[in-house]
Amino acid sequence: MAYPGSVRICDVGTRDGFQIEHDFIPTHDKIAIIDAIVAAGVRKLEVTSFVSPRAVPQMADAAEVLAGIDKGPGAEFVALVPNLRGAENAARAGARSILLFVSASETHNSTNVNRPIAASLDCFREVMALAVHGAISTSFGCPFEGDVPASQVAAIARQMREMGIRHVALGDTTGMATPPLVRAAVVAVREACPDLAIALHFHNTRALGLVNVVAGLELGITEFEGSIGGLGGCPFAPGATGNVCTEDMVNLMHELGIETGIDLEALCAVARRVEAMLGRQLPGQVMKAGPRTRLSGLDCAVRAVG
Ligand code: ZN
Repeated sequence: MAYPGSVRICDVGTRDGFQIEHDFIPTHDKIAIIDAIVAAGVRKLEVTSFVSPRAVPQMADAAEVLAGIDKGPGAEFVALVPNLRGAENAARAGARSILLFVSASETHNSTNVNRPIAASLDCFREVMALAVHGAISTSFGCPFEGDVPASQVAAIARQMREMGIRHVALGDTTGMATPPLVRAAVVAVREACPDLAIALHFHNTRALGLVNVVAGLELGITEFEGSIGGLGGCPFAPGATGNVCTEDMVNLMHELGIETGIDLEALCAVARRVEAMLGRQLPGQVMKAGPRTRLSGLDCAVRAVG
């Protein structure tokens, strides 16, 4: 199986992960974590979102976070916005890349943003003056409607492409993707819009996150989203595991001989720092076990016979 020679990894932990944290994370801590992720070699991050501070108090400091991060290394910083007002606020705060999202299922879209899919897409048209990335939530299944037809995902992608969007992330919002569903969605979107760049965003809710990443690699996908330490969760399944963990994914890529440009040990150190900051264990695994080639002392062996 020929995999791509290199991939781009986008970390979404400080947006997709932090947004469900109950206690407010101080702005300077958010900035320090983003700077550390960039210093480890990550070159694309979904840093924050310009949503209603009433709905998501954790993101109330979006403008300050965007202003405070180190722009030096030349990473792409993406801000998520739900509507025109959010996009205007993001632009005012200096955001150059914004991410607009819509769900592939009507029920999820109305639960999430209280409007039909068509209205969400209309709002995209209003903000196309900015560098816009699109994201389609529930691309591989909806917690309310169940299976989402790949043709529905492709139809939304086609409308985005017709508006001028060139990059779309297919999101597995509640961890319902499986390798066959990944293949079906990617093939359908490619057929509908051959020149649209596709990124894949999986959640590890049912332990298939990295398996789905491999399915994406086999299809030639070269951009994947993850979150540092495996931050994040699923609002409809309390306690469920969050996004695919960025370090675990980087470890997989390196073992497959795929370049990421990321220093795995440095990224694991950032994940442990986030863990200490939040005061609870995160689901990431390589951050605990270390890379495969890290050797243990012999004294561990007598206790490890299982
Ligand atoms: Zn996510």
